[in-house]
Amino acid sequence: MNIMTFTVASEKEMQNLGERLAKKLSSSSVIELIGDVGAGKTTLVKGIGRGLGVTDTIQSPSYTIFCRYDANEKSLHHYDFYRLQDTGLVSFDLEESLHTQNTVTVVEWGDSIKGILPENHVTIRITPISDDERQVDIKGIQL
Ligand code: ADP
Ligand code: MG
Repeated sequence: MNIMTFTVASEKEMQNLGERLAKKLSSSSVIELIGDVGAGKTTLVKGIGRGLGVTDTIQSPSYTIFCRYDANEKSLHHYDFYRLQDTGLVSFDLEESLHTQNTVTVVEWGDSIKGILPENHVTIRITPISDDERQVDIKGIQL
């Protein structure tokens, strides 16, 4: 599938893009987010959560590794494997998320567990262009 490229000029626009993306997700979508620290991955997830109707505040799961949020029709499961040495136990949780109906699973820093993501997952790469501008490349879904 083609890669769609967006230029996003602010944190707010990033959240709006996430919200728009959320409306296009199928019931059990899996999204891999790629980008350095501070690129805006978690910011995008906040927008996805808003689009799904999550009312809880979405926080970076860097220390907790994953967070699960209930929404209207779908749940949002947000994982962050940043610097996690031993992915063993968490990958069981991830597999459970991947097999749960009506759940959108989003993964930050998923290199080490890439093998368990379904082949048809959505890949989003965020590249900083300046302080506030980001290039967002989206593969695997049509917006
Ligand atoms: P990551 O999860 O990739 O480490 P975060 O979303 O936690 O990144 O943080 C992104 C930081 O960059 C935030 O402090 C945010 O305010 C800032 N920022 C500036 N411009 C943007 C933008 N266009 N999109 C997303 N975040 C931005
Ligand atoms: Mg993050």
